[in-house]
Amino acid sequence: MKKITVLGVTGSIGTQTVDVVKHHREEFEIIAMSAGRNIELLEKIMVSVHVRHICVQNKEDKEYLENKYKDCYFYYGQEGLITIATLPEVDVVLNAIVGFAGLLPTMEAIKAHKDIALANKETLVVAGHLIIPLVKEYGVALLPVDSEHSAIFQSMNGEHHGDISKIILTASGGSFRDKSREELKNVTVEQALKHPNWSMGAKITIDSATLFNKGLEVMEAKWLFNVDYDDIEVLIHPESIVHSMVEYQDTSVIAQLGTPDMRLPIQYALTYPRRQPLIGGKRLSLADIGTLHFYAPDFKRFKALELAYEAGRKGGSMPCVLNGANEQANALFLDRKICFLDIERLVEEAMRAHEWVDHPSLDQLLEIDQWARNYVLKRVGEDECKQ
Ligand code: NAD
Ligand code: MG
Repeated sequence: MKKITVLGVTGSIGTQTVDVVKHHREEFEIIAMSAGRNIELLEKIMVSVHVRHICVQNKEDKEYLENKYKDCYFYYGQEGLITIATLPEVDVVLNAIVGFAGLLPTMEAIKAHKDIALANKETLVVAGHLIIPLVKEYGVALLPVDSEHSAIFQSMNGEHHGDISKIILTASGGSFRDKSREELKNVTVEQALKHPNWSMGAKITIDSATLFNKGLEVMEAKWLFNVDYDDIEVLIHPESIVHSMVEYQDTSVIAQLGTPDMRLPIQYALTYPRRQPLIGGKRLSLADIGTLHFYAPDFKRFKALELAYEAGRKGGSMPCVLNGANEQANALFLDRKICFLDIERLVEEAMRAHEWVDHPSLDQLLEIDQWARNYVLKRVGEDECKQ
């Protein structure tokens, strides 16, 4: 029986994780879970899977729940997240928190010898240089939940790392894949939130439309698979059937395919190296699909991708600036305070204004993340770029 802490249980990945666990109760047990502010959904999940340790974001919510559920332990805030990520009986922490907030609990979980199933890509983007050595030092497993990275991981099973020639990350292209730069000027939040293939949280859906998501994934791949940026290629694949590929020295390309369903990579991260039936999962019929399309991304139209390669290659504190500025700009767009193209503009401005440091410590990262967010807020305050 694998004992799991699920961080971000009320989110898109979190709820799908609960679904996977419910279908394999003989294999997995959720020991602890965290939610942000969606207490109503948290209570529903609490009733459906009996979990004793629960962390919420606010003290008031913790007190409310404590009065209502006498047989559970409640925690709150960053400290609470760390407590439930390091409980002695837990084997694996599935981190499905969105954004920089996922970093500290991941680091503490590793130090407590927990395996990590990682959906929270921002953790690796910002602090890959701290996380990867920590994973090695504590001898824990770091298993990707992101579908592309799960595909790459699966395509590397049994292969020799030295034989890899490149990674090919596929991208759906997001909600605006077919729009011109001119058309992108006036797109709305509602349009951006309509992803063609996946139903996901708001932040990542906007990131998919800007292609910052793919940019973050390029950096995530660099850390997970120890490859150079020159050996990571992005390929637009509108159908989201080929989840990514690995090319080897002998020109062979190995890919993982499947219908777009996040429960598969979630489940694989939990069952690895074994596989289990995916209850309710739709089987792939290539005969029904008939044709798959692939084309190279236009780096001029998708500036975010170019910025991400630049930040990744620069390394040090630059990915943290890109990530922090993007999180802030993404939230401002969702809040209808800025236009769609302002997101990449503000991220680029933050990168240009940043005083770069090599190998930032955790304390420096916390500071730089805050600096990037404040920089974006300040610039927007000075601007007139209302949607
Ligand atoms: P979501 O917004 O649906 O859920 C986020 C969860 O984190 C919620 O439970 C929320 O309450 C919690 N949360 C948010 N901010 C928090 C904070 N400051 N402190 C504590 N908890 C907080 O997001 P999602 O779409 O499930 O994505 C989660 C992560 O997984 C992201 O890093 C995303 O990039 C990654 N991911 C998601 C998908 C997907 O299909 N949704 C696919 C690949 C990777
Ligand atoms: Mg992905």
